[in-house]
Amino acid sequence: MYVVCEKHLEDAIEEFVEVYEQPPDIYKLDEVSFTDWLAPHKCDFCDEPPKYLVV
Ligand SMILES: [Zn+2]
Repeated sequence: MYVVCEKHLEDAIEEFVEVYEQPPDIYKLDEVSFTDWLAPHKCDFCDEPPKYLVV
């Protein structure tokens, strides 16, 4: 699972496909809510606020 900004969405998708050998589902962070999961405050690849969830 990756939480990424707009700039790093491509990187996250590429890495996901390499690791799991299947395309990920992509969600916009502001459109999903998880009861027992708080979205991280920064992108997995940089310090920008994240925008997408790649799972
Ligand atoms: Zn980023």
